[in-house]
Amino acid sequence: MGKKDREWRESPTDTLRVTPGFSIATFDCASTPGFTGDHDDAALFMERRGVALSELQERLFAAGRSDGTRSVLLVIQGMDTSGKGGIMRHVVGMVDPQGVQHQSFGVPTEDEKSHHYLWRIENALPTPGHIGVFDRSHYEDVLVVRVHNYVEPSVWGERYDEINAWEARVAASGIRIVKCALMVSKAEQLNRLEERLERADKHWKYNPHDLDERASWDAYMEAYQAVFDRCSTENAPWHVIPADNKWYARLAVTELLTQALEAMDLTWPAAKFDVEVERQRIAHLRDSE
Ligand code: AMP
Ligand code: MG
Repeated sequence: MGKKDREWRESPTDTLRVTPGFSIATFDCASTPGFTGDHDDAALFMERRGVALSELQERLFAAGRSDGTRSVLLVIQGMDTSGKGGIMRHVVGMVDPQGVQHQSFGVPTEDEKSHHYLWRIENALPTPGHIGVFDRSHYEDVLVVRVHNYVEPSVWGERYDEINAWEARVAASGIRIVKCALMVSKAEQLNRLEERLERADKHWKYNPHDLDERASWDAYMEAYQAVFDRCSTENAPWHVIPADNKWYARLAVTELLTQALEAMDLTWPAAKFDVEVERQRIAHLRDSE
């Protein structure tokens, strides 16, 4: 295969987007849809697209410093070991940290529990000019909460429509939502958990509780299926990313995020001063100082 062929044959924005009839049961987590290259080609592409991503992010940030009202929200969901942390480090890490507002969502605190489940999410929404990144999200309230019945089925059952309505409001307020679910296979999860045990530098990532959660794998897959069936909307579609190959998942999320920013047609904000006048002032200082 020629070098020029080792690239995106189909855009992941289209290929990975959930469409009606999508089934997680038959999804191949080891696949690399739309990308014709391998691990090494992906590294080259990441670098190239990282440059584009970084420039677009600077435009977004500059617009936010001006009169811009728009921002981006990257939502990352996935089972334990699916590579959420790697996305933060390798994808989000390619842009200027000043422009990123990162938030991880764990078990709600007592304070958070005393509010509506969307309260802490709403509080973490990105401000204009920023890329907000959610490591887990409000979807936990229809995933872990559903799997363990932390609330009655009648309660979590109403959340899908509520989440859609809330996301529609968020999108209408100028926040472009990019939702990514990293899907790792059950076999690969076991490999990754085992690897965490075998390496002292990975022990900090190992949580004995992950094995307990693994016991509910099928219930989690059902809960993810419901999320894809009910919460992939026009304004906030889900993208399901095969995550057994970390290089592919990172490349795909990079591309999704970059394309989302490209679609925003971000221009550099116009100067709020007279450029010619300022030039002349500087020229004058050069002569007089
Ligand atoms: P980690 O991402 O490894 O730091 O783990 C965070 C943990 O918090 C996961 O086990 C999540 O399932 C859990 N979690 C996140 N959101 C919620 C929620 N709304 N209710 C209950 N558990 C949650
Ligand atoms: Mg974990």
